[in-house]
Amino acid sequence: MDREQFRKAGYAAVDRICDYFENIESYDVVPKVQPGDIAKLIGASRTGSTRTSTPTSLQTFNWLCSPACTELESKVTDWVAKLLGLDQSWCNEGMVGAGVIQGSASESVITVCIAARERFLRLHPSTPFSDMVILGTTQTHSLGAKAALILGFEFVAIETRAEDEWALRGEALEKALRELKEKQKKPFILIATLGSTSTGAIDNIAEITSVTAAHPSLFLHIDAAWGGVFLSLPECRDESFLDAINARAVKGAEEGAICAGGEVHSFCTNLHKIRDRTLLTTALDITPPFLRTAQASAGLVTDYRNMSLSLGRRFRSLKIWWTLRSYGVEGFRRHLRRLVELAEVFERTLGEEVKGVELFTKRRFSLVVFRLEQANTLTRTLTTLAAADHSLMLTPTTVGGTECVRVAVGSGFTEERHVRGLVGRLQVLIGQAREAVEK
Ligand code: PLP
Repeated sequence: MDREQFRKAGYAAVDRICDYFENIESYDVVPKVQPGDIAKLIGASRTGSTRTSTPTSLQTFNWLCSPACTELESKVTDWVAKLLGLDQSWCNEGMVGAGVIQGSASESVITVCIAARERFLRLHPSTPFSDMVILGTTQTHSLGAKAALILGFEFVAIETRAEDEWALRGEALEKALRELKEKQKKPFILIATLGSTSTGAIDNIAEITSVTAAHPSLFLHIDAAWGGVFLSLPECRDESFLDAINARAVKGAEEGAICAGGEVHSFCTNLHKIRDRTLLTTALDITPPFLRTAQASAGLVTDYRNMSLSLGRRFRSLKIWWTLRSYGVEGFRRHLRRLVELAEVFERTLGEEVKGVELFTKRRFSLVVFRLEQANTLTRTLTTLAAADHSLMLTPTTVGGTECVRVAVGSGFTEERHVRGLVGRLQVLIGQAREAVEK
């Protein structure tokens, strides 16, 4: 593509984006496409060439390649830490803590599992991998099991209970650690969750850290993939919960500085924070001569390649910078508050207008989870009918054997009339589900 063609393609892309926003209401929520349809739309492949010398290319292998990319990332992740109420110890300033943008929450967990494995083996050298386990709960996102699969460990899920709103409590953790010890198993990381996928459950971090204080080789990670951003709303923050996240442990002298039990080591909210960057860099730093720089050797700069799986880096901090600059902190909070209000409208209207629906758990942030008349069959029929309806998207989930439906409000384009419209559509689908089950 020459420059003129590129210009035309760019204008055409902008036109398409504007048209899309102008006509957004006319599209199906779930597009009517079959597997392979989109692949067919992509033109036959042509020989491409990579030119690393163009003025626009950005090769961020280390700080030297693009100080702007590195330093903007450090800056915006510090802004985000402050916005969420995480204290100074999580920030890049001071070069001890670190905020690093990972590709996804799943990638974050794999990355911290590598750091935790390395840390555990420093404390307990020559522990066989087959004894080491990744610990989570039955409500941990499948990222826990996936990290275990990729890294070759067992994933152990602690049962959570309805009466604890599906959250991990200290007592259950203590019991699980006792049982694992009896089996000679060595948990090296616990993945706790703030805002579980199925119900928005929030593990009890204060109770967890009081247990892990006696287990200093257990790394504690918080997966707050979608729930974490709500910490930016003071009204959604439980200060004692934040205190538990920010609390520092007294490090055991005999184990050295790497070993602090009873504190949270890393936190991810689709931006990722770590308390002590050396936990990552010790595990992931491999520096061949061609990546060595005077600035990094002198400890003056951050090389994010040592805190992530990839070497090259995209300029993803620009998106966060742009969002925060264009909306501002108050705009960001307004957006989140709006989502919570709309979820409240949905919850209320559903309860008032649709018979036989019961909330499975109390609404958490912008997530509402419901079921139908204590009957899995009916709920399952509803989700099957909804899956074939292109005007809405419901996510089915099963918690403690109960099949439920999740409705999460997340788009800045959603208005009250859409939420009320969804309740109306659900009313029709629930009627159809009843007829189908009664037949
Ligand atoms: N953790 C939780 C609690 C989630 O809800 C999700 C997404 O559904 C994930 C992790 C996975 O996030 P990612 O797609 O960023 O790996």
